[in-house]
Amino acid sequence: MNRLQKSLVMLFISFLLILQSGCIYNNNYNNNSSEAFSPDNLTLKVHILDVGQGDSIFIELPTNETVLIDSGEKKYSDFIVSYIKNCGYTKLNYIVATHPHADHIGGLSEIISELDFDKIYMTNAITTTSTYEKLLTTIQNKGKKISRAKAGVSIIDTDSTLLEFVAPVEDEYDNLNNYSAVLKLEYYNNSFLFTGDAEKESEEQITADIKADVLKVGHHGSSSSTSDEFLKKVSPDYAVISCGKNNDYGHPHTEILERLEEKNIAIFRTDLQGTIVFICDGTNIKVNTQSVNNTSSSVVEKSLYVLNTSSMKIHKAGCSAVDSIAPGNYLETNDYEKAISQGYEPCKICKP
Ligand SMILES: [Zn+2]
Ligand SMILES: [Zn+2]
Repeated sequence: MNRLQKSLVMLFISFLLILQSGCIYNNNYNNNSSEAFSPDNLTLKVHILDVGQGDSIFIELPTNETVLIDSGEKKYSDFIVSYIKNCGYTKLNYIVATHPHADHIGGLSEIISELDFDKIYMTNAITTTSTYEKLLTTIQNKGKKISRAKAGVSIIDTDSTLLEFVAPVEDEYDNLNNYSAVLKLEYYNNSFLFTGDAEKESEEQITADIKADVLKVGHHGSSSSTSDEFLKKVSPDYAVISCGKNNDYGHPHTEILERLEEKNIAIFRTDLQGTIVFICDGTNIKVNTQSVNNTSSSVVEKSLYVLNTSSMKIHKAGCSAVDSIAPGNYLETNDYEKAISQGYEPCKICKP
């Protein structure tokens, strides 16, 4: 064999080894293997969707499984369905309806009419609204049963990922908000707490470890929730508030904003920043916002190019196609050569 042939053989062997280790990793993933692996390129994405005064959170797990927590009001269902399809999915693996208020389940019937799903979790809260009854009928018509959301029930529990309910703890409450399913999500060292509209009464009952990097602030930032004690237990670096611009409730309440600011927690708000995406690699967390009038203290340097991680196109920052990139697929860069070497192709419209 000459030198070139030898190198080619070595290259082929290395390729086989890489391929094989990929397979081993994939097999182990679902088998709770304790073998360490590098989470390169495997990211958890948490999209806090801008659904005005309401909640809707779309989660892409590193396994390519998906979770939808709440749906906002009915008028946002088309937006949510196309958002999820734009991220490359046609089905949801897990749906959580935190509690049956219209700003949380209003569009869920419409969404599950469009997208298949495996499992839906709800608490035992019951109302008589037509929205709620329609949701039950749609679930039934799809031939699905409702799984009970309650403290201690886990949806996912593998070596890398935990998705578990930490509330409601009790079976009965006077206030529908306190029935809210509260979820803890962990991916290696990154963690989230999703609180629905849970108020102080429910917060006080939680016994699970709720320390988290990111807190979805309870009840749209209302002073009914996020007590000082609760916030100390969660001790987040980031707080995200889902609420509508100039909403009738005055959410988020000043008292809560001050409580978060006192503790130097970075605040993100859908009413000011639109859809907010947290991208986690198991250690680090990166936050992308649509940021029209970004009021967060983190000043982002203006980048020259925008990457679409789904279509693998590189655009000039001002290109018209940039506006339609889903936040989860949006990355900025100044390094054109590096992007090309990573396989990005120049956009045909703006020709960067
Ligand atoms: Zn609500
Ligand atoms: Zn509510």
